[in-house]
Amino acid sequence: MPDVAVVGSGPNGLAAAVTLARAGLKVHVYEAAPTAGGGLRTAELMEPGHWHDICSAVHPMALASPFFREFELSRRVRLEVPEVSYGTPLDGGRAALAYHSLERTVAGLGRDGAAFGRLMAPLVQRADGVADLTLNQLLRIPRDPVAAALFGARVLEQGSPLWGLRFREDLAPALLTGVAAHAVARLPAPAAAGAGLMLGMLAHTVGWPVPAGGSAAIAEAMVADIEAHGGAVETGARIGSLAELPPVKATLLDVAPPGLLALAEGKLPDRYRSALGAFRFGDAACKVDFILSGPVPWAAPGLADAGTVHVGGTRAEMAEAENVVAAGRHPERPYVLVSQPSRFDSGRAPGGRHVLWTYCHVPSGSSVDMAGAVIAQLERFAPGFRDLVVSHQVTTAAGLADYNENYVGGDFSAGLMDLRGMLRRPVAGPVPWRTPLPGVYLCSSSTPPGPGVTGMPGFHAAKYALKDIFGLAVPELGIDG
Ligand SMILES: Cc1cc2nc3c(=O)[nH]c(=O)nc-3n(C[C@H](O)[C@H](O)[C@H](O)COP(=O)(O)OP(=O)(O)OC[C@H]3O[C@@H](n4cnc5c(N)ncnc54)[C@H](O)[C@@H]3O)c2cc1C
Repeated sequence: MPDVAVVGSGPNGLAAAVTLARAGLKVHVYEAAPTAGGGLRTAELMEPGHWHDICSAVHPMALASPFFREFELSRRVRLEVPEVSYGTPLDGGRAALAYHSLERTVAGLGRDGAAFGRLMAPLVQRADGVADLTLNQLLRIPRDPVAAALFGARVLEQGSPLWGLRFREDLAPALLTGVAAHAVARLPAPAAAGAGLMLGMLAHTVGWPVPAGGSAAIAEAMVADIEAHGGAVETGARIGSLAELPPVKATLLDVAPPGLLALAEGKLPDRYRSALGAFRFGDAACKVDFILSGPVPWAAPGLADAGTVHVGGTRAEMAEAENVVAAGRHPERPYVLVSQPSRFDSGRAPGGRHVLWTYCHVPSGSSVDMAGAVIAQLERFAPGFRDLVVSHQVTTAAGLADYNENYVGGDFSAGLMDLRGMLRRPVAGPVPWRTPLPGVYLCSSSTPPGPGVTGMPGFHAAKYALKDIFGLAVPELGIDG
């Protein structure tokens, strides 16, 4: 009989399971899908030998996350760190490039290089403090108040209509907007600026790596660790009610608030139940995966060396596309996130071919196929792209919601990423991972610090379960621990 049940095997469910199994508890993970990993799955979607990341692809947050650092992820999985973390093409064969090196980035940004350096360098210098603030819980006294003040001031600037004041050209603003737009939000906005500045800072510290073999390699390392410490991960095991679980002492749920409401079957107190019922989801993604006969023929030099490319044109164009989505419509010229993993990990595609991972933002619940608009944007900045497409596969927002019940309406952040959505995740309070049900914890990205492969929601929930239920200390998570 297990001590602990974990429902859901996304990075957060697995992080919780790793922590609890390492503490000597018998852990059983139940996963609805046929494979473990949640947002960490890699599959041959179209042809054998061509490996596509179904959800997450690029992992700056995993490299910087306190959980994955303790887990020594970079000793378990080969992480390829591109020389150019990310870039944004502009018309006329130009591009803004965020090199791993901040100095090189500054040197490439023309008259705005120094201003970009003054924005980013203080964050890079206090990277641990910024990571502690953003990859942890927002509602607490920061460990590095200077880092918090520097970060907060920059969030207020880049999250407001003053975001262009320090710049005179179009390269640096396009670079910053490309990364802020990851947040799926109206632009400019403080939460998007916060996400953008944090990811932007990581570009110049840990870099933006792609795992050799794909994101599934991270899930496999975590499952192996759980099993090595006596735990079990059962796939094809959807849990419909907490009553289906064996009588365990603690239950950790890697589910979104509607999942918790369904699992608890009316046993939650009214106030908490209505808070979960009022939880807001954000807009969604339409994913388009490609097999290409060669690398993307970017017009601008440098983009071939970028792990991630933000395609959407100038700051104003990207903001317009995001604001169209926020207004419930589909942009004609969407902001497209592109990852080109096979440039850095040759095992992803055979015979000189490449796989390309792209998605654009769409309104919640959309069933619109955005492949045409995505291809047109790529063709705009990489003439000849269309001719390289061997095949492509679309997953609409509605398809993403079917794929993973945590992605309500196709919202892969499992909750709206605005300021309120970050502070009330799913409720405001010092320990949002505890639920009113004794021994039941929420550990998904609907809890702080929110979306992304950080393992931190799971790690926090596991720490409270260890303390509250078992009176155990947090164990060592390293390879030799
Ligand atoms: C297209 C896309 C691109 C992304 N790109 C990136 C990226 O590049 N980098 C990054 O850091 N993040 C990225 N993300 C976000 C990242 O994948 C998520 O934030 C992360 O996976 C959330 O982890 P989680 O553990 O909270 O939940 P999930 O990964 O969503 O896992 C939840 C799991 O729980 C299972 N489950 C739910 N309910 C039940 C139940 N009742 N019974 C049994 N099992 C259940 C689900 O099947 C699922 O496997 C991306 C997401 C998407 C969709």
